[in-house]
Amino acid sequence: MSYPSTPRVTFPATAHEAAITLPAIGQGTWYMGENLAPRRDEVRALQRGLELGLRLIDTAEMYADGGAEEVVGEALTGRRDQAFLVSKVYPWNAGRDSALAACERSLKRLGTDHLDLYLLHWPGDIPLEETLEAFERLREQGKIRRFGVSNFDVNELEALTTLSGGDACAVNQVLYHLGSRGIEHSLRPLMQRLGMPLMAYCPLAQAGQLRQDLFGHPVVREVAGGLGITPAQLLLAWAIRPVNGRCDTIAIPKAVRLEHVEQNAGALAVELDDDALARLDEAFPAPRKKVPLDIV
Ligand code: NDP
Repeated sequence: MSYPSTPRVTFPATAHEAAITLPAIGQGTWYMGENLAPRRDEVRALQRGLELGLRLIDTAEMYADGGAEEVVGEALTGRRDQAFLVSKVYPWNAGRDSALAACERSLKRLGTDHLDLYLLHWPGDIPLEETLEAFERLREQGKIRRFGVSNFDVNELEALTTLSGGDACAVNQVLYHLGSRGIEHSLRPLMQRLGMPLMAYCPLAQAGQLRQDLFGHPVVREVAGGLGITPAQLLLAWAIRPVNGRCDTIAIPKAVRLEHVEQNAGALAVELDDDALARLDEAFPAPRKKVPLDIV
């Protein structure tokens, strides 16, 4: 398998924005801002990640009720231009007017005048046409550069991309890790056909209700040990591996501990050979039939 020197993912050009290419590992923020770790450690972790090239920072109005956005805002003080900033709107705030107000609140907490990407956090009851209209108004106002979705399965993504303006959807952020490969059956192929990058959340399977001990799995440990890397690095390198010759997955591990941030950035330099991939496939086979989208 051939890798570019640093795996990178390109968000294609839109009618209004040039294409942008980012390192294929970014940073998550769920559980930041909840006093589970000292705030200064969370800020420092995000800043260290940026220094190491983990440019995409993913947050949401949901996380710590806006508290995670405040941590991100603090981390980006004086360095906003280094980050590709992603936030998400609750489905019930994704209406024609409510999305504009929600975005305004997020921008205030983040201390910035624009998001690089604004996602609908999961499908809800507000008609998608309304959300698309709101996203387009936010784009016209310069408050967001691109929009995308999260937790959209095949039917939902197909419905979205057939709506007027829906084909500008830049990304679908879904749960994806070695122990949860359901999207490989049909969602990922659909996204590849649409030329839409994938943002892989919970890439380490270490948080949320679907937490799994992949780090302790004997095959993960053996393959990682053979390559001289940690289990976490193996999982990240696996998540961002090229599929059908394309690097189109950006993984967003959340890490507060600095050694975790450094390891995660180091995973950008890991190349998985065919033998390693075959062993992982055998232990964690891809699904042979459509399964419901995994969510946290
Ligand atoms: P992850 O799979 O990223 O796991 C995070 C956990 O792994 C933390 O406990 C962290 O510890 C630990 N960790 C990080 N790096 C390492 C490492 N190198 N070695 C060992 N342990 C490590 O889970 P998340 O649920 O946080 O998912 C990532 C991000 O995806 C979220 O933060 C969020 O931004 C996004 N997300 C989006 C969802 C959606 O619905 N769209 C749903 C869930 C997540 P520590 O912090 O102590 O360093």
